[in-house]
Amino acid sequence: MVASVSLADPSDDSLAETPIENLVIVGSGPAGYTAAIYAARANLAPLMITGFQRGGIPGGQLMTTTHVENYPGFPDGILGPELMDRCKAQALRWGTKLVEADAESLDLSSRPYRLVTSEGETIMTHSVILATGASANRLGIIQEERFWSRGISACAICDGATPQFRKEQLAVVGGGDSACEEAVYLTKYGSQVHLIVRNDTLRASAAMADRVLANPAIRVHWNREVLEGLGEDWLSHIRLRDRTTGSTEELAVRGLFYAIGHTPNTELVQGQLELDERGYLVTRPGRPETSLEGVFASGDVADSEWRQGITAAGSGCQAALAAERWLSHHQLARQVERLSIEPELAGETQPTATSDANNFDAATLWQKGGYALRKLYHDSNKPLLVVYTSPSCGPCHVLKPQLKRVLNELEGRALGVEIDIEADPEIAQQAGVTGTPTVQLFFNKELQQQWQGVKQRSEFKTAIEALGAPRP
Ligand SMILES: Cc1cc2nc3c(=O)[nH]c(=O)nc-3n(C[C@H](O)[C@H](O)[C@H](O)COP(=O)(O)OP(=O)(O)OC[C@H]3O[C@@H](n4cnc5c(N)ncnc54)[C@H](O)[C@@H]3O)c2cc1C
Repeated sequence: MVASVSLADPSDDSLAETPIENLVIVGSGPAGYTAAIYAARANLAPLMITGFQRGGIPGGQLMTTTHVENYPGFPDGILGPELMDRCKAQALRWGTKLVEADAESLDLSSRPYRLVTSEGETIMTHSVILATGASANRLGIIQEERFWSRGISACAICDGATPQFRKEQLAVVGGGDSACEEAVYLTKYGSQVHLIVRNDTLRASAAMADRVLANPAIRVHWNREVLEGLGEDWLSHIRLRDRTTGSTEELAVRGLFYAIGHTPNTELVQGQLELDERGYLVTRPGRPETSLEGVFASGDVADSEWRQGITAAGSGCQAALAAERWLSHHQLARQVERLSIEPELAGETQPTATSDANNFDAATLWQKGGYALRKLYHDSNKPLLVVYTSPSCGPCHVLKPQLKRVLNELEGRALGVEIDIEADPEIAQQAGVTGTPTVQLFFNKELQQQWQGVKQRSEFKTAIEALGAPRP
């Protein structure tokens, strides 16, 4: 049953100045972007809160995978981050407004609904689509915090290429499709991959399980659980317990990768919307309506069963169409007029070419590769941001445009270089890089600060500005 919600107190002056959006979409995975494309094409000018650090990254879970082979329209497969870049470009092309932040709170007690972002902005909206997906689970083993990003990772695809894992013994925990995919993927880098499985069977699809069992570089440890990480500065062993006998053993591994499922990102609406016993949003069967009028759900956040890119996209479409109908029915839709019926084409983005003696330019804000790094490190008197990436790292994809924006805003006061750790592993090794993305800030040939993972743009800008480098 869909409940109706009272209208907000019209005498609340604090809200009087805030414009009311037609539709806010929370989350930028396949569900969110598909909803945005449909709503934008319906001239609703939807506003999307892309997410930043809470509950995943902008672009969602497909940013953490390599080849997506089952999304229709790409006969040769497509890289997950590239697919999401294309969805984003399509949503933007039709007029979606993006807010690159997390939704911190959402008040659904009265209409219009009120959302506050992690940047402190308050947004009022007539309708909401929740597309917040699901987040990777952690095991919570002893010394997990100590070895997090020092051997333990929740994303083999993002971190597998780091030098510390090369030709080393590695372990993956889990028995589903993700665990199997990650185990196979890690055989590219490790000398051997140990798959730690709680039971005596794999939950993965038969095809995926067969690939694992036939791979001589993967050894499956059945009926085992991980108790503890051991080591000094970096993980060197894990302690395993045999669940049938209770005996424990140590396994020498330099990497431990979790692939143990996901939890739906519903904490924003806990106590406000109906959730099932596992925390997934409950919608009308086969439909996107939640337990409150004007609030819709799409994708993994409301789907404990199918959890695929295409099912998320399909339900994003349903949610946008349902929101459009609801807005029209209540005469709330404020249609936005387009200047031209056909918006400009999104076009393809070209990757940055690696710099060499022929194309290096000391004034270019963003360059790529070891040559540019050496030249700028030795010859430039400007702060230098070095970002270490790997080709399949989704978070790197998210971070790079943010860093480029910072450098643009600083108008040449600092420069940036990207090092692909797969192309230049010795540079990454020398720099002590333990995962991607890693960013190092150098000034006067000295390391000033280092960050790991996706951070707010303002952190980099503040750190560079604090160095007091003069304007060019
Ligand atoms: C390793 C891996 C490989 C996969 N491979 C495939 C594949 O080959 N084919 C396939 O079809 N599916 C695949 N999947 C599954 C697929 O990725 C998911 O089903 C799909 O991404 C779900 O889409 P979604 O839009 O519902 O949510 P997600 O992709 O999880 O996106 C959720 C979004 O919500 C945002 N968010 C969360 N909390 C907040 C908040 N408080 N404020 C603002 N934003 C927030 C996140 O930042 C993110 O942008 C794979 C998944 C994984 C993990």
